Amino acid sequence: MENLKASVAQQVIFETVRTTGIESVTLERSLGRVLAEDIRANRDLPPYPASAMDGFAVRAADLASAPATLEIIEDINAGDTPKKTVEAGQCARIMTGAPLPQGADAVVKVEDTQEIPANRVQFNIATTPGNFVRPRGESMHVGDVVLKAGTTITPGVVGVLATVKAKQFAVYRRPRVAILSTGDELEGLDEPVDPNRIPDSNTYAVMAQLQEIGIEPVLLGIARDNQVELEAYLQRGLEFDVLLVSGGSSAGVRDYVRSSIEKLGVRVKFWRVSTRPGHPFAFGMSDSTYFFGLPGYPVSSMVCCEQFVMPALRHMMGQARPFRRTVSARLTQVYRTNPGRTEFVRVLVGHDGGGFIATPTGSQSSVVLLSMAQADGFMVVPADCPGLATGEQVTVQLFDSAVLQDKLGFRE
Ligand code: AMP
Ligand code: MG
Repeated sequence: MENLKASVAQQVIFETVRTTGIESVTLERSLGRVLAEDIRANRDLPPYPASAMDGFAVRAADLASAPATLEIIEDINAGDTPKKTVEAGQCARIMTGAPLPQGADAVVKVEDTQEIPANRVQFNIATTPGNFVRPRGESMHVGDVVLKAGTTITPGVVGVLATVKAKQFAVYRRPRVAILSTGDELEGLDEPVDPNRIPDSNTYAVMAQLQEIGIEPVLLGIARDNQVELEAYLQRGLEFDVLLVSGGSSAGVRDYVRSSIEKLGVRVKFWRVSTRPGHPFAFGMSDSTYFFGLPGYPVSSMVCCEQFVMPALRHMMGQARPFRRTVSARLTQVYRTNPGRTEFVRVLVGHDGGGFIATPTGSQSSVVLLSMAQADGFMVVPADCPGLATGEQVTVQLFDSAVLQDKLGFRE
């Protein structure tokens, strides 16, 4: 299998990767994880019929011919237990969230009443049974599944988990990932600057891509282009759930990754995808490790990580929605394509009166990482696209950070 279409490569990956397994986490450490069990309500909420307003608990029948006056028999605050039964001609002062007393069947809000002397209150309007009363179990009933396995834990979900007293529960495990860079020309972050060498940026850019979804990868460092050293590094990497190797997969005489990884027992499913940038991208698996071979060029390695590795990792973590959000945007300038491969173009995303707009971030060369640093997203250009004119609608994958914006975005 050579030069797969991007969508086919993605399909092969998704048919292969499985969730990484399950572990238990505490509520405090659960943000961003994915539930691996159904969560049920531990009681009815509210546990009793509760007032939805500050006002008076009444028998609706007493107000049939409002205006009417009733005697106040009790004050019920949130947290109180009512002591008296509301009989005909009576009412109780009640606060939001407090339990409705026996005998009452509705609440009239304080704004529709007028207190008069002798502990009495005048009602200006009629009401109906159930008005401003939250019935017992309105939010949830004991035993109901309130959160299904597969739910991503957002702040709202944390609130629901706390509500049902779920202090510890099962989530999908995050894969353990190792990152390896390869190349004689590479200079490590801690090495002195040598004008003849290329700084290793892939290790850190890819690390950061993974950190965005909560994975802390282990950085194996730089393997030089000799088979013995490379194999020692690869062997270490194959102890992880996922091994990401950048560089060394092209057709050069010193590109040993392919032969070495196969020798170490990785069954390679493909070595090439039809994308620009990102041509030499490989995927395979051993008995316990998924292997991804990323291109050496900095932008290409980030593009392949974003398009193929990140969705696979999200899937392994149980995420039901493994892909970036896409929006339709209007292209602000002509874009010349080079048909034959699916293209991922770094763009700035903004919006004007007509919706989202997309502007390419200058040079699209796969060594110009600065244009990646500026980008809000990737414009996806289909392989058969003959070219794009100013004003055409295009599809843009938004990077998470681009979901934020610098203005409030609404007027009051
Ligand atoms: P390769 O696929 O090994 O032939 O690498 C292609 C090019 O990508 C190399 O010539 C380097 O310029 C660049 N490159 C490879 N690995 C890295 C890395 N870890 N960080 C930055 N650039 C890299
Ligand atoms: Mg190389």
